[in-house]
Amino acid sequence: MFSANIFTLYPEIFPGALGHGIYQRASEKKIWELNVKNIRDYAYDKHATVDDKPFGGGSGMVLKAEVLNECLEKNSNDYKTYYLSPRGKVFNQELANEFSKLKGINLLCGHFEGVDQRVLDHRNIDEISVGDYVLSGGESAAVVVLDAVIRLLPGVLGNENSTKEESFNNHLLEYPQYTQPRKWRDLEVPEVLLSGNHGEIKDWRLNQSQSITQRLRPDLWTKHCNKSNKN
Ligand code: SAH
Repeated sequence: MFSANIFTLYPEIFPGALGHGIYQRASEKKIWELNVKNIRDYAYDKHATVDDKPFGGGSGMVLKAEVLNECLEKNSNDYKTYYLSPRGKVFNQELANEFSKLKGINLLCGHFEGVDQRVLDHRNIDEISVGDYVLSGGESAAVVVLDAVIRLLPGVLGNENSTKEESFNNHLLEYPQYTQPRKWRDLEVPEVLLSGNHGEIKDWRLNQSQSITQRLRPDLWTKHCNKSNKN
């Protein structure tokens, strides 16, 4: 069972999107479990203070090292801890694949201006970002990371092949998809998809994936070409 451990000031945000549909069924099947810890429970003064003003001045508040450290220490396990942060390595499908092979993960959600650097240094915590923009807290980022990871765990999606053919595998974006009816308004489904010729369909899809990637994501296209050249 994959163990997802969240450390947050806002436990009520979870499971959120992870409590529905395939994720709910997968947790009932014991493919994954979610443990949410409230950082505030580890505050040590009578006002349950979790943050304070930054040394050196500046706006906002910083989460206190001792409170975070207690929270992580008291709930320590064998899994690696990541702090969700705009400074981190940008999360992508490759990392999602990597994480999905682990037994579990700890995700520390920051708030306000962030966390005291010393807790990250002391505990050797790596940072991951969900993109080059600033969120108000790490919770929505943690949901994004877990969403991408859990659907890759064996048994979560009905068809294992559905994750093999989709966007970002091999640095390509997915081809266009169509369903019934064959004609909607005056728009038709591409003829080849109705042909029943699996070889032609496969070629058409690969072709579409390549031209879409080339047009929409030249950066991915370059990676795809470099990888293909090496093979
Ligand atoms: N002052 C910080 C931003 C703090 S935002 C800075 O300029 O870097 C508050 C919290 O939101 C952070 O502690 C982090 O946990 C979360 N967060 C914000 N943007 C994020 C992103 N792009 N990816 C992951 N977490 C993010």
